[in-house]
Amino acid sequence: MIYTDTRDSNVKTTFKNAVMSGMNKETGGLYIPVEFPKLDPAFLAKNPEPSFRDVAFNMAKPYVEGEIPDEDLMAIIQDAYPFTPKIQPLDNISYVLELFHGPTCAFKDFGARFMARVMSYFNKDEGSNLHILVATSGDTGSAVGSAFHNVPGIDVTILYPEGKISAIQEKQLSTFTGNVRALKVKGTFDDCQKLVKTAFTDEELRSKLRLSSANSINIARLLPQGFYYMYSALTVRNRASIDNKITDPAIIMVVPSGNFGNLTSGLIAKEMGAPIAGFTAATNTNKTIPDWIATGEYNARPSVETYANAMDVGAPSNYERIKAMYTLEEVRQQFASYWLDNDGIKQAISDCNKKTGYIIDPHGAIGWKAWEDIKNGGMEALLNGAKNDFEKPGLTTNIPEWAVSVKDKKAVGVILETAHPAKFGNIVQDSIGREPPLPSRLEEVMKLPDRAVSMENDYNLFKAWLLANLE
Ligand SMILES: *Cc1c(COP(=O)(O)O)cnc(C)c1O
Repeated sequence: MIYTDTRDSNVKTTFKNAVMSGMNKETGGLYIPVEFPKLDPAFLAKNPEPSFRDVAFNMAKPYVEGEIPDEDLMAIIQDAYPFTPKIQPLDNISYVLELFHGPTCAFKDFGARFMARVMSYFNKDEGSNLHILVATSGDTGSAVGSAFHNVPGIDVTILYPEGKISAIQEKQLSTFTGNVRALKVKGTFDDCQKLVKTAFTDEELRSKLRLSSANSINIARLLPQGFYYMYSALTVRNRASIDNKITDPAIIMVVPSGNFGNLTSGLIAKEMGAPIAGFTAATNTNKTIPDWIATGEYNARPSVETYANAMDVGAPSNYERIKAMYTLEEVRQQFASYWLDNDGIKQAISDCNKKTGYIIDPHGAIGWKAWEDIKNGGMEALLNGAKNDFEKPGLTTNIPEWAVSVKDKKAVGVILETAHPAKFGNIVQDSIGREPPLPSRLEEVMKLPDRAVSMENDYNLFKAWLLANLE
């Protein structure tokens, strides 16, 4: 596969270079494959559907062709995914796609674990270690730390703002041993990010240490997230005729979004032939994308804090990829968009629990409520000419091409549950009056000793620490 760049289509590069460099420093653009090959129709038509790993292998293969042989790719996938996504029906036409069965209980495990193994694979011929630096305000750091833990040839340094993340999140970041270390910085998330950025531009440091990042713009995090869209769409298609007597349902993926990496992965899966009719982009008050869809104007802005904090993003980095792949009109055809404020998030957690018995996390709750409104008349109202005020929580006014299928009762919703509710126990407790049960892997991590090293918000001290501790 040839990879190009969102800002300059003359750029042509390999998968290895796209993965190892993360983004194109010359243009500031993000790497994308030049095409999204369709999977074999016979594979897509299988009933029962292929296993998750089988889907993963077949989807990844064209993107690594000529660079990673089949046996090695299969080994990477088997090692990355000892867990699978799980599909839970809520009612006849609504499913939750649980993406939290990995080690850190958030969907980021799917992308980070694949990327870690691919980086290690490409790094194996190098004589020295690759050092990953990552600034985090929550889920990314733990997914990346866990994904690279004990991966040969690579070490990870995680920077997080002391006192500004939850107790569970801090335990998940600070208790690694061996090749993953955490620094608690006396400052904000932005200070952490600045320390990392300064290190990347420090020529002297870079002449001594091979540095890399592991953020969500990396194509090796994006492609594997497509696996669970394909897998769940095939599964839901096959069972819809049993669950709800709909043959050939219009499957709508409802995606709680921040940087829009997850949703971009869904678009890739659809391009590759996943039976997906469309998407609903669900955000918190950081509604840059819903506003763009409603008004046609894209205005990045500073982020605001919400209960769904992993989506507190005012300048979504994958907007760049979505724009490179589609026009605004094409986006409006494919997406409904929806947003909720903090009061709405708590209400949604509570309503979901009352109606279905399911305990949903604050991120998934926005998706649940979006689908609830869409299927209970919200989309039909738009078809009948309603104009919604995009300044108020709810659906934006655009009518995606799949809207009629909702009215005709042919649509089913798949709500992506991006994190385990126990990671946000306080908010869930406030909403439903009890805490969700802690999965044993989170219980275990709470018992481990904290190993984070304190760090002043001072670049020279940070640099000295890197030089003394990394080799
Ligand atoms: C990162 C994250 C999101 C947002 O995903 P994007 O790919 O940035 O849109 C949503 N929910 C949870 C729990 C997350 O950790």
